[in-house]
Amino acid sequence: MLSLPRKDLYLNGCYTKANSYKTLYSPHTGEPIGEIAMATKEDIKRAISYAVQAKDTMANLPAYRRGEILQKVSYLLAERKEEAAKIISLEAAKPITAARSEIARTIETYQFAADEARRLRGETIPMDASAMGGNRVAYTLRKPVGIVGAITPFNFPFNLVAHKLGPAFAAGNPVILKPSSQTPLSAFFIADLFREAGLPSGGLQIVTGPGSVVGDEMVLDPRVKVITFTGSPEVGKQIRNKAGLKRVILELGSNSGLYIDEGVELGPILKRTVTGAFSFMGQVCISLQRIYVHRSLYHDFLKEFVKETQTLTIGDPLDEKTEITSLISHKDVERIGAWIQEAIDAGARVLTGGIEGNIVEPTVIVDAPPKVKVCCQETFAPVVVIAPVDSFAEAMEAINDSNYGLQAGIYTNNMEHAFLAAEKLDVGGVMINDFPTFRVDQMPYGGVKDSGMGREGIQYATEEMTELKLVCFNRNS
Ligand code: NAP
Repeated sequence: MLSLPRKDLYLNGCYTKANSYKTLYSPHTGEPIGEIAMATKEDIKRAISYAVQAKDTMANLPAYRRGEILQKVSYLLAERKEEAAKIISLEAAKPITAARSEIARTIETYQFAADEARRLRGETIPMDASAMGGNRVAYTLRKPVGIVGAITPFNFPFNLVAHKLGPAFAAGNPVILKPSSQTPLSAFFIADLFREAGLPSGGLQIVTGPGSVVGDEMVLDPRVKVITFTGSPEVGKQIRNKAGLKRVILELGSNSGLYIDEGVELGPILKRTVTGAFSFMGQVCISLQRIYVHRSLYHDFLKEFVKETQTLTIGDPLDEKTEITSLISHKDVERIGAWIQEAIDAGARVLTGGIEGNIVEPTVIVDAPPKVKVCCQETFAPVVVIAPVDSFAEAMEAINDSNYGLQAGIYTNNMEHAFLAAEKLDVGGVMINDFPTFRVDQMPYGGVKDSGMGREGIQYATEEMTELKLVCFNRNS
């Protein structure tokens, strides 16, 4: 019998044995795929100590060298992209074509981080704009903030890790990474690439184990200066409450909405909206969950949307044709099953869908009251709710009627509606004539309300991982 790959803790540039290991299972087949180290509180303390030791070395790396390391990782990942995509498919059950897209984005994300390392800069301050500031020269510097604690979710195990490591290293900080317990293999893979690219020992530690143990210890230790967290609002709130004065960046969930305005041609947007709702089975933070359609288009849109949904191919994540496969866990299948039932009990109708084992078929729901969970909470499953509206104003109100505010979208031919939507939608990003699921990795990205605080997108996250320092020369003395 073949032995499972065993992944130790990654500390100070070396793999280090742990006291215990836990078996990692494929979400699709249920077969074991690895043995993963379980860090203890002492291991986390040790990881933080190594990061403390590496702090000056990281801070003293010149910009060209930080850029070189990040660029090399981008090149190395490009060379091994198929291997990396297969890891995502294996541990996250992401359809292989979607996994390849994630790797293509990750290659770009590290490239953007390399660029940012080279151009990170302060500015000169016009001191003589104040009557008391004459004959002074002042400028700002961006200094690395110190040790960064990064906690990441399962759904984009390469690219969301890159959104932590890229900016942290661009700014010259050491990182302690706690990846999702379901997707640690991607994290170890990238650690190997950073080692090969010449990242100093102690620049990166990977500690695996339950979030409640590993995450807590990182959040509570005063030596960690920033916690950058991507995950669910529930965990994000716990972290915020425990972090005290520590800087915290929270990238949380959403139930993103889209409005299709009167007069929009449906043909060109159908495939796009179906993709927005069901790509990676809706397990995307900006997945399209609520579609509001002008009543004049509602019935046509519904008919065509359901037809298009039913063409999606269900299968094994490693099969080239697969678009829909198992959800991340059986617990999530049960949760979403109960939420759909709650909607049906409240009068909603399911136009297409069904559950088979760990696979939730793409599900389209209509007539759902706004207060049922499939509308007002984050489904994080292939479930979309469609409703008619009578006006632009009603659509804006419906989209904003949410505890979340990550991104929203509008398809319209009406310029005034486009400008008003940009103004009125209470979200971090408004997509005009696109779905809310659109993201490229250099743009500022993050939410309002329960969707979080702080912004990612390499330039913005890099700034969040620096301290702004003022230097002022007095030429009067
Ligand atoms: P999750 O359950 O919140 O887990 C995220 C990470 O937090 C995991 O590494 C988890 O570790 C860790 N964690 C769990 N409990 C913790 C605690 N008490 N203290 C510190 N860390 C803890 O989220 P998920 O299910 O992996 O991901 C789905 C969520 O992420 C969705 O809500 C989605 O919208 C959100 N998301 C947001 C963005 C964005 O950019 N806004 C992007 C992607 C995903 P374990 O794995 O060990 O539990």
